[in-house]
Amino acid sequence: MYALVINCGSSSLKFALIHAKERNTVISGGAEQLDTPEATLSIKYHGEKVKNKLEDPTHLGAFKEVFQFLQKEGYADKIKAVGHRVVHGGEYFQESVEITPEVIDIIKKCAPLAPIHNPANLTGILAAKEVLPDLPQIAVFDTAFHQTMPEEAYLYGLPLEIYEKYNIRRYGFHGSSHRYITERTASILDIPLEKLNIISCHLGNGASIAAIRGGKSVDTSMGLTPLEGLMMGTRSGSLDPGLIPYLVECLDYDIYEMDNLLNFDSGLLGISGVSNDCRILETKAKEGHKRCRLALDMFGYRVAKTISEYLPALQRLDAIVFTGGIGENSAYVRELIMSQLAFLGYRFSNPSNSFCTGGKEGVIATSSNFGKALVVCTDEEGMIVQDTLEIVAQKEKQASSIDSTVEQ
Ligand code: ADP
Repeated sequence: MYALVINCGSSSLKFALIHAKERNTVISGGAEQLDTPEATLSIKYHGEKVKNKLEDPTHLGAFKEVFQFLQKEGYADKIKAVGHRVVHGGEYFQESVEITPEVIDIIKKCAPLAPIHNPANLTGILAAKEVLPDLPQIAVFDTAFHQTMPEEAYLYGLPLEIYEKYNIRRYGFHGSSHRYITERTASILDIPLEKLNIISCHLGNGASIAAIRGGKSVDTSMGLTPLEGLMMGTRSGSLDPGLIPYLVECLDYDIYEMDNLLNFDSGLLGISGVSNDCRILETKAKEGHKRCRLALDMFGYRVAKTISEYLPALQRLDAIVFTGGIGENSAYVRELIMSQLAFLGYRFSNPSNSFCTGGKEGVIATSSNFGKALVVCTDEEGMIVQDTLEIVAQKEKQASSIDSTVEQ
């Protein structure tokens, strides 16, 4: 049997068909530029990638094509359930749930907190429900893992009534990745989950850090939206809120243009003036390009600063873990970060740092007081599959116990 994982953006639909036992991806792909005449669907199967224009360029159209492909290849009857990535679950969900009409209502209710993502996620859910009405559909929330944060970590220093009335607080994102990293690190270090204290650094185009105490998230760098915290590929990260009204005046921007500037034109791209792609920045920095070097230096400094900010929340540290496209692959950025944490007594291994790239995991530094620094490859889809199958198994168990009670 298989689980189908769906991740919908406003103009995209990514999917993966994953074997329930082996946990390997059999078919994957995605539709891009949905709702435009240029919409395409790529499907990767048996090592080959085929890209076609979409006749019906909607999310539903894309989902139908995916399903037809699965039917043609004989997988349609073997899908046990569909797992959906949902970005914002507000304060309603601490864990993944089966999607019911009530859950759909709550996802809609949380849409003002994630105006781009939640409506898109919902479109994917509705498309999957239309095509596969008899299969369980499971929602896995990016925010759920961080619902264990204490008030002092999640509240903003605003009048408390604003939180009470509008739910304005820090929620955090990349929850599935930080959770996976926590579980995997516990198993790598052979430390029981409830005793594990780590700082999980998910460094990709979007980047966030989470402080994990006793296996639970107690703080994280993203906030109400994924703009807060680290400087990222194209996002500014945290800045002085007083800067916004000032800049609106300087640039004569409206609030939407301002939002665009902070989300899409800033970060590594804005500082380097070249790219948001870490690989390009590294190459250019090594060639002596000053702005590319500065962009990476700023990124590294902010990561190191955030890691050290979390030490009071943890008191004892078992590991700093690097993951995400940059965390898993960039020896350059990891060295930049760890060199600034040398005061914590880390002994850094250059050979091991260079070795850990392209899916290779390992220990890159050790300290007698602050544990290890590790590279671990994340698996957000794997988490979605795990939750999806667990919920389905629970459901089946409940159904069979009801059946046996009825028979008795
Ligand atoms: P997201 O999922 O947030 O879109 P990813 O986790 O895929 O992002 O990470 C993308 C980032 O990882 C890009 O900045 C990319 O340049 C960087 N990256 C990927 N491979 C390498 C590599 N070999 N060396 C350095 N950076 C890399």
